[in-house]
Amino acid sequence: MKIGLRKQFAKVLALPNVHYFGHVPVGSNSPITINDLRGFCPSALVFAVGAQGTKNLGLPGEELRGVYSAKDFVYYYNQLPPFASQDFSVGKRVVIVGMGNVMVDIARWLMVDSPKRCVEEVIVIARRGPLEAKFDEKEFANIQIHLDREAFQDELRRVEPAMKAVGQDVAKVAEETFPVLKLPDQQTIPPRLIFRFLSSPSAITGGPDGRIARLTVTENILVARDGGVAAKATDRTADIDVDTLIFAIGDQHDPSLGIPFAKGGYVTNPEIADPCAHYQVFNHQMGEVCSGDFVVGWARKPSEGLVGIARHDGEVGATHVLQFLGNAPPRAAASAEDVARFLQQRGVEFVTKDDLRWLTAAEEKEARERGTAYYFFSDDDSMLAAIEREKSTSAASAR
Ligand SMILES: Cc1cc2nc3c(=O)[nH]c(=O)nc-3n(C[C@H](O)[C@H](O)[C@H](O)COP(=O)(O)OP(=O)(O)OC[C@H]3O[C@@H](n4cnc5c(N)ncnc54)[C@H](O)[C@@H]3O)c2cc1C
Repeated sequence: MKIGLRKQFAKVLALPNVHYFGHVPVGSNSPITINDLRGFCPSALVFAVGAQGTKNLGLPGEELRGVYSAKDFVYYYNQLPPFASQDFSVGKRVVIVGMGNVMVDIARWLMVDSPKRCVEEVIVIARRGPLEAKFDEKEFANIQIHLDREAFQDELRRVEPAMKAVGQDVAKVAEETFPVLKLPDQQTIPPRLIFRFLSSPSAITGGPDGRIARLTVTENILVARDGGVAAKATDRTADIDVDTLIFAIGDQHDPSLGIPFAKGGYVTNPEIADPCAHYQVFNHQMGEVCSGDFVVGWARKPSEGLVGIARHDGEVGATHVLQFLGNAPPRAAASAEDVARFLQQRGVEFVTKDDLRWLTAAEEKEARERGTAYYFFSDDDSMLAAIEREKSTSAASAR
């Protein structure tokens, strides 16, 4: 999929009227602010910045070694800087909090794809019950061979009374969320995957080595809410000995970008009857639309779907932007050369379209030399240096 995405990006970037300035962080604490972008007099600004904020568990002990946010952890194993060069060590018993596709992705890496594969047990903690699992069947199929079916049946028996209390039928679990249960029972392949439903993390305890040693969970019951079910804490707790904890509970927007932000997210026009409004940035303090400012993808709805959904959202957003541009008066916007000059004056080391080609060549060379399928530079400095190296090697061989 990554290779396919890269090809699509390359196709878009090849368009002569698309200019690219990579390695330029925009934000109120960055060298380039949104006001700087406005200084270029664009007819519209589209924020496709995703959801870079982390939703934390909000518990003391989160800073212990062995406790990671899912996003950081995935960035680490996808070799993205600066995470690729940081400590994301994993032990033998890993808890993943959350029950969506990201959990499945991480469990798969730990149990199947990781080159070290030191994990013996992955324990999934979910605040609600088995019928509220959010992952896709196709994704789960990649790890279902590791599911400890006996332990899973024990867990279903444990949570059945709570499910019954809200009118849920435990027999539907095999139909609706865990079709693996319909397959003939077979021996679990280690490492084993187990689930603990109706449990919310409530305390993290460290060991003498400064690494997480125990997770305490509060047991929940289910209550009916807004046509669905919600978790309600009880006063019962349970302790789980673990050496690694990864929380995959969704992401939120980064408030430091500098566009209107409230209740953990960027604010869009509340006129929901107008389809375009969903994409327009809204200044809630002034009560007015930020004319010409749009959000798309996860920058509009954090943690909403996989890349296909984000891409579709980008396309829908783009139709609204085009409609807006059709009615907007022409503006004397800065040229790409003006933007490049501005960034240089600010001392921002940006990556151009040509640089991307050198970077790809450098990455492919590294991958060949290491005998791996792909290679990414693990920090910005080595990436920028590789681009320069590739450029000068090519210039020297052309002479
Ligand atoms: C842990 C995890 C695992 C996932 N696994 C999968 C998977 O296996 N398959 C799948 O289909 N989907 C997966 N997804 C979902 C997928 O990542 C999203 O659907 C998709 O990335 C959203 O696209 P986007 O373009 O809206 O945002 P993003 O892909 O997040 O793109 C935002 C871009 O904006 C840049 N940016 C952000 N802030 C700034 C700033 N201030 N200044 C300049 N640039 C900025 C970022 O560097 C990034 O390049 C996963 C998501 C997570 C969190």
